[in-house]
Amino acid sequence: MGGVAPSPPCPFCNGRRTELASTFGSHASLSTWWCAECRSPFEVLRWQETTSPVDPGQPSNKSTSA
Ligand SMILES: [Zn+2]
Repeated sequence: MGGVAPSPPCPFCNGRRTELASTFGSHASLSTWWCAECRSPFEVLRWQETTSPVDPGQPSNKSTSA
């Protein structure tokens, strides 16, 4: 069970010394990170936090040929 998420590299200086500043940024799907290298905050999309529920399968091309 991987609990600790890997720190994303800084998009500005590509530094690895990033710290999670806030779990929720402007949007609920964004995490605010802080780069200790260039001291700039940046937001990262929480792509692998929780898997979104799949939409109810819409009826695809159903051949209704009686
Ligand atoms: Zn940086």
